[in-house]
Amino acid sequence: LSKRIEIPKGEDELQNLTLIINEMLDRLETSFENQKKFVSDASHELRTPLAIIKGYAEIIRKRGTTDIDIFVESIDSIISETDNMRNLIQKLLFLAKGDITKINTKFIDIDANEMVHQIHSDTIVSTKTHTFHLEMGEDYKIKGDETLLQQAIRALIENATKYSEPNTNVYIKSFVKDGFGRISIRDEGVGISEEDAKRIFERFYRVDLSRTKATGGTGLGLAIVKRIVELHNGKIEVNSKMNEGTEISIILPISAKPIVINQKEKEKE
Ligand code: ADP
Repeated sequence: LSKRIEIPKGEDELQNLTLIINEMLDRLETSFENQKKFVSDASHELRTPLAIIKGYAEIIRKRGTTDIDIFVESIDSIISETDNMRNLIQKLLFLAKGDITKINTKFIDIDANEMVHQIHSDTIVSTKTHTFHLEMGEDYKIKGDETLLQQAIRALIENATKYSEPNTNVYIKSFVKDGFGRISIRDEGVGISEEDAKRIFERFYRVDLSRTKATGGTGLGLAIVKRIVELHNGKIEVNSKMNEGTEISIILPISAKPIVINQKEKEKE
């Protein structure tokens, strides 16, 4: 730990200044520690696919020249592991950008329901393991980067299917509540405890390593979702009950509301 400035006695202004400087030092230190942890976790994650690739290369050298099946199998594994590694690196690069304003974005007016509808249709086509339900309220617009928002919503849907049994339901909702747009994904899966719910958005945080290893997760998905939502001045809410299910909602500021004629005005017409 680095040194903190001793608080001088007597003069109020100097005391305040010292407190502020010490507070700044605390924050700098925390941020530095976080950065260090990120680098060490990232290298750890990258070592696994590298070890696998090396392992298969060694198998090819030993037996691949005489056994064509072993050769093909090993090459396939190397290709798929390289893909995993590239995926991981892309995620790491996204998260490593300390200043989120440096992320390349293209903000446009998005019709939220239309976007969610499209994602729902794509999901039904690509994912046969679950039943996906779509519920939408009044139309509303949000200002945002469509590719990034889609990525965030898809990550939530993927988690909903990863952490629930096949053939269960996943509910995709899009509606306006309290003047904000809400896109939420609910599953009937394993659930998240209150304690874990506070931490799942941390980089590399996985609830149960033995369980999540089987799903091949990295613990980066939700950290990326959080980043994307922050980039849109939004918030994330988690509602979950162990063994019953989880609902994760992305709450976004609305850029344009539909004109709603209230009942009385309608009657007057
Ligand atoms: P991972 O790659 O491990 O899925 P994420 O950042 O997407 O990483 O999620 C972090 C952890 O949060 C997961 O490992 C999992 O334990 C938990 N989690 C995320 N979504 C859900 C969900 N819908 N239901 C239960 N647990 C979840």
